[in-house]
Amino acid sequence: MTPATTPSLSLLVAGGGIGGLAAAYVLGRAGHAVTVLEQAGTFGEIGAGIQLGPNIFRMFEYLGLTDAVSQVAFFPPGLGMNDVRTGEKVVRVPLGDTARAAYGYPYGVIYRADLHQVFLDACKSLPNVTLRTSSKVDSFEQDGSGVRVRLAGGEVLEGDALIGADGLWSRIRERVVGDGKPRVSGHIAYRAVLKREDVPAHLWSDDVLLWGGEKTHLVHYPLRRGELFNLVAVFHSNKYDEGWNTFGDTAELNERFAQAVPQVRELLGKIETWKMWVLCDREPVKNWSDRRVTLLGDAAHPMLQYLAQGAGQAIEDAVVLGEALRFTHGDVEQAFRNYQQARYLHTGRVQLTARFYGDIYHASGVQRELRNQLFRSGKESAGFAGLKWMYDGIDLKNLFVRAA
Ligand SMILES: Cc1cc2nc3c(=O)[nH]c(=O)nc-3n(C[C@H](O)[C@H](O)[C@H](O)COP(=O)(O)OP(=O)(O)OC[C@H]3O[C@@H](n4cnc5c(N)ncnc54)[C@H](O)[C@@H]3O)c2cc1C
Repeated sequence: MTPATTPSLSLLVAGGGIGGLAAAYVLGRAGHAVTVLEQAGTFGEIGAGIQLGPNIFRMFEYLGLTDAVSQVAFFPPGLGMNDVRTGEKVVRVPLGDTARAAYGYPYGVIYRADLHQVFLDACKSLPNVTLRTSSKVDSFEQDGSGVRVRLAGGEVLEGDALIGADGLWSRIRERVVGDGKPRVSGHIAYRAVLKREDVPAHLWSDDVLLWGGEKTHLVHYPLRRGELFNLVAVFHSNKYDEGWNTFGDTAELNERFAQAVPQVRELLGKIETWKMWVLCDREPVKNWSDRRVTLLGDAAHPMLQYLAQGAGQAIEDAVVLGEALRFTHGDVEQAFRNYQQARYLHTGRVQLTARFYGDIYHASGVQRELRNQLFRSGKESAGFAGLKWMYDGIDLKNLFVRAA
């Protein structure tokens, strides 16, 4: 797609996370004048890893960002699951060429900050994208001709439309959907990143490896071309109501993994400081737009991380939103309706399936036996193969089809 040179719409994006920057890049590339309003004093992301399914690499290809991403990503050769108490291998799915053959695109993992930087650099390469920090969106109004966004400092900005990419606790969602606070799942994630030299060889794995156990699991994988090692430990807890990026309690974590195999306990012992997340999601909704205002990413469909898709779905949203605006030739209200119509069932399915996979990873008793049997079967209905609908991603050619 050749970028147009004349900006046609003036678009405001609340939030400069991965979703907001992806949207700004997509819309800026299409020739619109985009202003990103980020509340933080700098653009940045916390240090942790994220997995990128083949569906997201399909989007990178569309955006011309595959090389930039691949230079800083890591491509694990497999995706495995072991029992955290016995060490027994439950399943291992080869990735690499197998993932490429099955889905047309690779499966990668990346440092969040590196992915955010790719989008930041891409936005900076477009003169019609303005990136503003210390710009917290406080409220907005709209009428038939445009939107007015008021920042916390009192400044008012005008535009043709507003895209709320302001995350799980979205201010814009409060007004557009009004469904209260997110649902606290009772699951807590502790995250840490080690340097390669701090991980003994017998604890290192190039695979994305998940150690599943009753109400707990640990996932680890390399990041940044294999220079770093990412760990995410998850367990059920009713101790916390809400929280984001605060420090974790190492004693509680060790207690939760007291029954784990020595290899896992040794690995956990390598980390002095954990960052903690209280994991939340929401019930899927079918309407997250109000005339000239719409939502994207976690603001629209926050999900538990068990399918490793939140950022990926935000990037897919951005691409679909751009296509919707192109299809309606800039009729924002119609474009926002088309966009959410194209997205809500898919993202709702990811939200609900992610909850189910959380149960599967943390299973005990008969549920655990059944999981192991189904995962080992390699059948279409189970495990990685059963997620083809998600990893195939968006069919961009048939997204919006004009009536003949
Ligand atoms: C433990 C864990 C593991 C995960 N693993 C993966 C994974 O492997 N793969 C994957 O794809 N996803 C993963 N995710 C999900 C992913 O992190 C999120 O879905 C993704 O970051 C959402 O991006 P976003 O841009 O929509 O929201 P956010 O990243 O939350 O960004 C929102 C931005 O808006 C800003 N903001 C908020 N309010 C305002 C305001 N009023 N005005 C202006 N700015 C505002 C914030 O400062 C922030 O910069 C994981 C999440 C967790 C918790």
